[in-house]
Amino acid sequence: MQQLPVIAIVGRPNIGKSTVFNRIVGERVSIVEDTPGVTRDRIYGRGEWLTHEFQLIDTGGIEISDEPFLEQIKMQAEIAIEEADVILFLTNGREGVTDTDEEIAKMLYRTKKPVVLGVNKVDYPEMNDVIYDFYSLGFGDPYPVSGSHGRGTGDLLDALVDQFPKEDATVIEEDTIHFSLIGRPNVGKSSLVNALVGEERAIVSNQAGTTTDATDTPFEYEGQKYKIIDTAGMRRKGKVYEKVEKYSVLRAHRAIERSDVVLIVLDGEEGIRDQDKRVAGIAEEAGKGVIFIVNKWDAVEKDTKTMDEFIKLIRYHFAFLEYAPILFVSAKTGQRVKEIYDLVRHVAEKHALRVQSSVLNDVMSDAFARNPAPNDKGRRLKIYYVTQVATKPPTFVVFVNDPQLMHFSYERFILNTLREAFGFEGTPIRLIKRARN
Ligand code: GDP
Ligand code: GDP
Repeated sequence: MQQLPVIAIVGRPNIGKSTVFNRIVGERVSIVEDTPGVTRDRIYGRGEWLTHEFQLIDTGGIEISDEPFLEQIKMQAEIAIEEADVILFLTNGREGVTDTDEEIAKMLYRTKKPVVLGVNKVDYPEMNDVIYDFYSLGFGDPYPVSGSHGRGTGDLLDALVDQFPKEDATVIEEDTIHFSLIGRPNVGKSSLVNALVGEERAIVSNQAGTTTDATDTPFEYEGQKYKIIDTAGMRRKGKVYEKVEKYSVLRAHRAIERSDVVLIVLDGEEGIRDQDKRVAGIAEEAGKGVIFIVNKWDAVEKDTKTMDEFIKLIRYHFAFLEYAPILFVSAKTGQRVKEIYDLVRHVAEKHALRVQSSVLNDVMSDAFARNPAPNDKGRRLKIYYVTQVATKPPTFVVFVNDPQLMHFSYERFILNTLREAFGFEGTPIRLIKRARN
């Protein structure tokens, strides 16, 4: 599985981190707003420069309330060191080097990761000389930029991209199913990992030279290779910031991007919270397979209706994930934990499913004959054909006379037809309307 390089921005408050972040990420941030349950997440975005795609983190957006100023900065620098491939250390050219800049520099000396030094608020070429002061921080050439005017970002991005890990280090493991367990702290993610990768199952060691996270857990079960992608609070408990919501959402984001299938772990005892919806929205938007795991089922007082009621609650709160299967388990007693493997495998298969064109054609022309597109003000939608253009998730293009004539309800009908015919449990399906001329 390919992983995009990550740039993390660190620096004092008010020097323009989020301005530079928005400048680099551009319009892309707002994409997440279309997904129900997802609020604008300004600390994380995708950027592009020349032929490079990357992820960008604004650590300034990760805060712990009540912590002293320097502690906040320290946490942000630590997160940058942990998460990034390249660190963008940003300073303010209008204020020169400050004590806090020197503190941050000291923390960054401890990492082997490349650091690129940006000097922001250099709005005009006449101001370029201010950068000389910043050589004293010891990170080589400082790059003058202006987040608000957009000046210098090209050279800065050149310098950052130049430090990306070389691509041949990435190993694509086609035969391995990558999945992650996403959920609030204490829902039982680590306990589930332990239950899944019990002592009886061999943990396959990470191959040398791979760029995968050392904390990912590879294992094999009934001839299938899996890898559990690490998220916040799973392997290295105890760091203060692991409990910071923005940080765990960020880690969830990153784990989801690297997964084929995402297990959204809910706490059977506590029910559903807003944070659960946020991460579920991210999984949907990223086009991943999704399974709901309701954990701690042993601790729930039950009667014959309890499970149905919980299912209704999930369907109500996660209406946009109506296709995701639900499994009730207990990491503590091991109840139904084994069923997780089969379900993950099944959903991963559906997520990667490519339907034969001839079969697809038969199914769709049959459906269109049974339920022809309705007239719209005298104009009729004409459907020429449907073709699958991608997997992970399955993506279909429907060629029509005029995409405007395709109503939401008819789109829905096409999606339902595809689901009924081919299953697609647990995976989103994308439908693209295109005019054929
Ligand atoms: P952050 O706290 O580091 O994320 O800083 P912000 O991005 O919120 O910016 C802090 C302030 O600096 C805002 O008032 C911005 O408009 C301003 N600012 C950001 N970048 C520049 C710049 O390149 N030039 C000037 N003159 N002001 C900037
Ligand atoms: P994480 O923060 O999501 O990784 O959660 P942990 O795996 O650390 O579990 C948090 C707490 O819930 C621990 O005290 C676990 O012992 C408890 N726990 C986890 N799974 C279960 C379960 O299936 N049943 C019960 N009763 N407790 C559980």
